[in-house]
Amino acid sequence: MTQLDTAPVTGGTRPRHHDHFIDGDWVRSSGEIIERRAPATGLLVSQVAAGTADTVDRAVAAARRAFEDDRWSQVSGFERAAVLHRVADLISTHAETLARLDAEEVGKPILVARADVAGAAQLTRYAAGLAIQMQGTTHTNNGPEHTGLVLREAAGVVGLITPWNFPALILSQKLPLALAAGCTVVVKPSELTSSSAAAIARLYAEAGLPDGVLNVVTGDGRAGAALAEHPDVDVLSFTGSTATGRRIIAASAGNLKKLSLELGGKAATVVFPDADLDAAAAGVVFGGFFNNGECCVAQSRLLVHTDIAEEFLAAVRERTAALRVGQPLDETTDVGALIHEAHLRAVVGAIDRAEEAGATVLVGGSRASSPQLAGGSFLVPTVLDGVTPQMAAFSDEIFGPVLTASRFRTTEEALALANGVDYGLSNSVWSRDIDTALPFARGLRSGSVYVNTVIDGPPTMPFGGYKTSGIGREMGQAGFEEFTELKSVSIRTGTRPGRFTIGTPPAS
Ligand code: NAD
Repeated sequence: MTQLDTAPVTGGTRPRHHDHFIDGDWVRSSGEIIERRAPATGLLVSQVAAGTADTVDRAVAAARRAFEDDRWSQVSGFERAAVLHRVADLISTHAETLARLDAEEVGKPILVARADVAGAAQLTRYAAGLAIQMQGTTHTNNGPEHTGLVLREAAGVVGLITPWNFPALILSQKLPLALAAGCTVVVKPSELTSSSAAAIARLYAEAGLPDGVLNVVTGDGRAGAALAEHPDVDVLSFTGSTATGRRIIAASAGNLKKLSLELGGKAATVVFPDADLDAAAAGVVFGGFFNNGECCVAQSRLLVHTDIAEEFLAAVRERTAALRVGQPLDETTDVGALIHEAHLRAVVGAIDRAEEAGATVLVGGSRASSPQLAGGSFLVPTVLDGVTPQMAAFSDEIFGPVLTASRFRTTEEALALANGVDYGLSNSVWSRDIDTALPFARGLRSGSVYVNTVIDGPPTMPFGGYKTSGIGREMGQAGFEEFTELKSVSIRTGTRPGRFTIGTPPAS
């Protein structure tokens, strides 16, 4: 069975080391090494090779060779599905190890990391089904002598660039679907959280994925940029910030590669007076602080009706104050460490600026003071009240455990506030009245809407953004189709003479 390099999660003293995985080999790099310290302890936990444009070239060449022979793109969907099912089994077998790697490197609570890995296994199984279901359409609407076949084909060599907040999960929202379609892949994980991607690559190899079909180049934005601009990459699927997404659009212009971009968010969670207020308060706190608030679908803007604002905010405050800030590997932790010290400082800066602009801190607002947490980047979960649309805290992604609260009087005002930001990834609405909730959901300009629930839904539902939250969709049939091309084949049978008049030689 594959041994995954788990030190020091399992108590070892040496950091994990990850090389590039190219054409079935782990390629030791003699170049620059990027060190990763656990955000909760400051301990050096892993070192990754910093991939260069040259490394990316080699990985793309391996993926191109693998795409062009018959080892993956030409095998049946059933064979691809069998490999993906074996990977799903292996992810489940190694679930605890993978969860601990992500919890340690991200600083996220282990309970969240376990749910991520369970989601990764589920997505891989879903992708296996898609491999079997891959199909096009036939068109018999153009007369008896014309038959149209629209073939759905693998798009080619795919580049996948992932962020640090859900390393195993977001990789699995892309990789198994691209492989299910018959594509070959080069992955560039976040330089801050590469360990689970390296471990998952080992599991794909153990499951029998042929060499060269999956390649992993570790490194930072330089490796990502080389992949985004590479002329032999057909599709680039990226998850990360909107700022980097814009750079990727520019970099991809050379060969006009197909792009799928999952970018930032600034979701509103809208609470009407007729909501189940207990459930809504629990949902608002979960939505705001899940994964340390370092979540593209964090429901970070609470919009509450004035009639219930005082009572509801008191409930939210009480629940927020009860959240346990602690070590990521502690089973009782609700909120762990932020990704690094510089990010913690940026989040504290955003809170300070909101206060200067007139917001009030209902709870939290500073780094955790407990001596056990002194070595890490821990913030006390924070609720800011009185946040107005003019404040940066209302419209800018803070990406930490910070919930802003604003009030509304009318449904129209709530909708204008919810839609009044540049992002459009997700929003949520809490009301017991379908005549309130459903029209509101339909009026929201976002790719996902949660009604009386939050951050919810199976992998069969597409996920992605309106406005500056992205281009394209991940998961669901739509997510699968991002990794495919359509080819229209026109077939004519029967009598052809008389159809092709231009260029027909004159009858002699
Ligand atoms: P980031 O944009 O800084 O980095 C994401 C990835 O891009 C990393 O692998 C990084 O190395 C790489 N990268 C950096 N510069 C690059 C460049 N010029 N060209 C190509 N690649 C480059 O984002 P992050 O800080 O890792 O993640 C946080 C952001 O991701 C937040 O904005 C969050 O909302 C967003 N996010 C979105 C989703 C979604 O599904 N919409 C999910 C998770 C995170």
